[in-house]
Amino acid sequence: MATAGKVIKCKAAVAWEAGKPLSIEEVEVAPPQAMEVRVKILFTSLCHTDVYFWEAKGQTPVFPRIFGHEAGGIIESVGEGVTDVAPGDHVLPVFTGECKECAHCRSAESNMCDLLRINTDRGVMIGDGKSRFSINGKPIYHFVGTSTFSEYTVMHVGCVAKINPEAPLDKVCVLSCGISTGLGASINVAKPPKGSTVAIFGLGAVGLAAAEGARIAGASRIIGVDLNPSRFEEARKFGCTEFLNPKDHKKPVQEVLAEMTNGGVDRSVECTGNINAMIQAFECVHDGWGVAVLVGVPHKDAEFKTHPMNFLNERTLKGTFFGNFKPRTDLPNVVELYMKKELEVEKFITHSVPFAEINKAFDLMSKGEGIRCIIRMES
Ligand code: NAD
Ligand code: ZN
Repeated sequence: MATAGKVIKCKAAVAWEAGKPLSIEEVEVAPPQAMEVRVKILFTSLCHTDVYFWEAKGQTPVFPRIFGHEAGGIIESVGEGVTDVAPGDHVLPVFTGECKECAHCRSAESNMCDLLRINTDRGVMIGDGKSRFSINGKPIYHFVGTSTFSEYTVMHVGCVAKINPEAPLDKVCVLSCGISTGLGASINVAKPPKGSTVAIFGLGAVGLAAAEGARIAGASRIIGVDLNPSRFEEARKFGCTEFLNPKDHKKPVQEVLAEMTNGGVDRSVECTGNINAMIQAFECVHDGWGVAVLVGVPHKDAEFKTHPMNFLNERTLKGTFFGNFKPRTDLPNVVELYMKKELEVEKFITHSVPFAEINKAFDLMSKGEGIRCIIRMES
């Protein structure tokens, strides 16, 4: 490759300050160092986690920064020691990596890699503590090890999953975060038994994928809970059978759900990031067997409060990153589910914009319009 080993100048959407529209700038992207890869991003999309850290209202501000973590691209060049992937390979970046060597990576029960687990406050590469992005020599920080709002980005090799080159990157890019997260939260973590009742809190892409996962697992009642009623019609396509808007009731949602389900739901999956919804999602599960799974990323000062009796009464609370999928090992198989038509991703993609109009994707998400907006890097 003519560009290997050289600095690449390309366009990136830089967030200079919290909450201010991104600005497309020419950045310099340094070559990948040991155990790193440089990836040409072709398609990326916006997830609520980008928006939270860009707003930085309840999160540590790290600016200037290049956001983005849901994407698809092609390896441009690799650094020293990289043997798993080569230039030309099609990859999906993942915000939480898999080194394949640590105790977590060796455990069948965990995807919380010691070396590469999600770290939202770090804006540099773990190898040398430096950023690979700069403008006139001034560093621009990374986000969750991926920074996909750039035509080229540098990642640790453990944060890319090599996928089937025949998979269309403009579709499967949404599997790199939100859809896999919601799907895995249901099928790998909540594991609803056949015929069970599941409540899904938050019907964005992650929650809708969790509903889809509950349906695939065989749940018969899937109750969608959202403050935005415009979500409900769409959610039917993802397996939701009933809806509940907390604003329509004077009673706490937990009580309304207990009345609807003869004592509580069998499983719940929280996909909002709102602490009250997290508590409700736990307290609405049936005593004796109910399991609640938290997926939303909370405010940095949030505290979860519930009466300990809720646990003594044999309710279980769990949480998950990336739906407990091991990114490099499992994500290629999730892509294969799509290739075999066992998982539909098109219905999650409601909008598409060229890279120059990336701020439109932020507007759509803040208005709660649509599900996923694909950002096309090349046109
Ligand atoms: P989204 O904004 O598209 O959807 C969130 C939905 O929650 C919206 O429809 C909103 O109306 C609803 N909501 C907000 N507060 C609520 C409340 N109190 N009660 C009921 N509904 C409420 O977001 P998304 O992209 O689907 O992401 C959902 C969450 O998952 C975010 O917190 C995101 O940061 C998190 N996330 C976590 C992981 C992980 O690995 N754990 C991965 C991806 C995203
Ligand atoms: Zn590891």
